[in-house]
Order: sequence, then C-alpha cells, then structure tokens
Amino acid sequence: ELRAWHEELRVQFPILAAHPEPAYLDSAATSQKPEAVLDAVREYLTTSNANAGRGTYPWANRTTALVEETRRRIKEFLHDPDPDRSGVHLTGGTTEGLRAVARDWLAPQLADGDEIVVPFTDHRANLHPWLEVRDLMARQGVRVRVRALPVQESSGDYDTAELARTVTPRTRLVAVTHVHHVYGADMHVHRVRRAVGPGVLICLDAAQSVGHMPVSMAELDVDFAVFSGHKTLALPGSGAVWARNARGPAFEPGGWDGSPNTTGAVALLAALDWLDAAGTARIGRWTRALAAQLTDGLRHLPSYEVLGCGRSLAADSPVARRQGIVTFRHRRVDSGDLGFVLYHEGFMVRSDSLCQGGRDERQRSVRVSLHVYNSPEEITRLLHALASLE
Ligand code: PMP
Repeated sequence: ELRAWHEELRVQFPILAAHPEPAYLDSAATSQKPEAVLDAVREYLTTSNANAGRGTYPWANRTTALVEETRRRIKEFLHDPDPDRSGVHLTGGTTEGLRAVARDWLAPQLADGDEIVVPFTDHRANLHPWLEVRDLMARQGVRVRVRALPVQESSGDYDTAELARTVTPRTRLVAVTHVHHVYGADMHVHRVRRAVGPGVLICLDAAQSVGHMPVSMAELDVDFAVFSGHKTLALPGSGAVWARNARGPAFEPGGWDGSPNTTGAVALLAALDWLDAAGTARIGRWTRALAAQLTDGLRHLPSYEVLGCGRSLAADSPVARRQGIVTFRHRRVDSGDLGFVLYHEGFMVRSDSLCQGGRDERQRSVRVSLHVYNSPEEITRLLHALASLE
C-alpha cells in the first residue's frame, strides 16, 4: 500500500522524472520540488505578481492575501493549539529564523546575569546566533552566560536530568533541535519542557523534521519553531519562525516592514498543501524504513561505520528514533573521495564535515538523506556500490 502511494508521488517530481539517475540522496541539504509547487509559482508570477502589504489594486491585494494565507497555513500545518495568540514570521530559512529569534526577540529582553542553554553538537545554525547575541550584549555591557545543552554520550540524547540541573532561575531560553541533521535522531524534545519548567522559553530547530513527520506545537510545548522552505519542497530563500506569542516587532502578524518573499510564500503554501495531502506520518514511515534498510545493510559491511545516536547506534539503536538520515564513513577511504566515487556510481550524497558544531573539521563523513521520492531500489543499489568498495 505504501509502495503504490510512493510511486504515485514520485512521478510528481519533474526533475526526478527527467533524471532518474544519479539517485538524489541529499534531501537534508535541500529537497526536490513537486509539480504542484512549480505550478503554483508559475501561476502566481504569470497572473498576479505584485508587492505585498501595499497597493489597492487586485494583484497587490491577492499577493497580500496569499502571504497572510501562508502564515495561517503554517500555523495549521504545525497543529498550533492557539492560532489567535501565535505569530508567524516569514524568513529566508532556518539560519535566518534562528538569528531573528536570538537577535530581534531574545536580545532586547536580556538582563545582566541571564543565561541561555544551547546545543554545541547540533547544526551550527543553532549555535552561532546564540553566541552572537551573547557578544552583542557584552558590547552593551550586559553579561549573558551561554551554557551547553547536556548530551548523554551513550545514546546521543539530550540529557534531561542533567538539563534540569543546568537550568537556574536566570535561564531565559533553551535551544534544541528536533531531528539531528547528522545522526538523524529524533531528539525527543517533548521531554525538554518538563526538565526546564514552565518559565523558560524553548526554541526548536525544526529544519529536519517539518515535512518529514507530523510536527505538533500542541504536543511539543515549545515557544518558537523554526524551519526552511527549501527543505520542505518549497523554494530556496524561504522559511518561517512560528512564535507561540506574537509580540516583538519581528513577529507581529501583518507587519510589513519590508518587501516579503512573496513567491517563496506562494511556493511554501503549495508545498504544505502537498505534504498534508501526501501525509507527513506516512512520509516518516517511508523514509524511516529506507534508513533502516540502509543501516541494516551497512551492518554487514565491516569497512563502514555508521555514525551517531551515540556509540551504541551501530549495535542496536531503536529504529524508531532514526529518521530518514544516515551518516557513515569508510574506515580506510576518505569521505570526500567516497562521495566522489559514489557520484560516479550513480548517487548524489553529502560528503564533508556537515556543519556540525563542536566537531573536528577533519572528521568527515558521508550522509544519505531521504524524502518521499526515494525508493528501496535506490538503497539496494547504493548498498551494492558500497559493498564493491569494501
Ligand atoms: N538546522 C538544521 C538542523 C539543519 O539541518 C540546517 C540545514 N542543513 C539548518 C539548521 C540551516 O538551514 P538553512 O541552511 O536553510 O538556513
């Protein structure tokens, strides 16, 4: 049943129909776009392209309405329990979104002696903005302490018991990641609220979860959720910050400080409709099965080492935690070289140091990341190619 569902969806990606090979296995970097998204962009640009939030003629009014509709749709897509209270700020992507939360929202509220807790082993986009805010405040004579979000070495999980001890009455915000971009682990962020208590803001980097699994603000109990449009089947240079409380200049709904990325919003709207119709729970089941197929296959190839979810992963990591991302390295072949060889064998993968904070630049690896359009045959072929390099 899932198989037929996948086949029906895969043919909707024109770039993959035109180029079935090499296999695209780099969706954590950016996703491919379905016809419905391309059509929506073309329809908008050829019928009603105008600027938003200004003007009194039909094209401008439709553009404004589309951008507002995108904001509303994002709340719905994220199962927002209180859309009248929340706000959506459209951004250029996750990096820009996290920076907006740090600089435009958090910084003006920080006082001398305040603390923030941030991940040092996740994507740098979720580390640098917080360090920048600390430095910005220091230049204004306000000392802000940045503490490391504790991680359990054995599992790779956030250590919530230790986090509860890290949080003090001065802790203002904890930044977390929903799905790790290297290990593919679901970081179980629903546990974070209990550890930090009700008074601390939680900011969620949802770059690798939105569009890949159901993401529910009602369940996660976070204050901000940030994601990228281009990883969510929409266009580069688009993304959003969802904020539980629409306050602060950057998050005011309907505030039109500058010209928004109207085409990006139109594409995102179409992409979210497409994803909901496809079913994010099914997308998650599909990509988790492909990732399990790959990790199981790699276990039989002793030259390869699968990274992540802590040291225990390669042995018997619970598959449920592993989303559609698998990162590995060959024990003797450089990962850059391996990526190059794999391209010539018919696969597009990511191979370098993967933008991970706190990681040695020389520790390179190969990452395979999946979306709804990837198939078990692609994984079988990849495992064959990897076996031939044993
Ligand atoms: N956070 C995570 C977890 C990511 O995987 C990425 C992209 N690799 C980012 C943030 C940054 O996203 P963007 O490049 O769209 O700003």
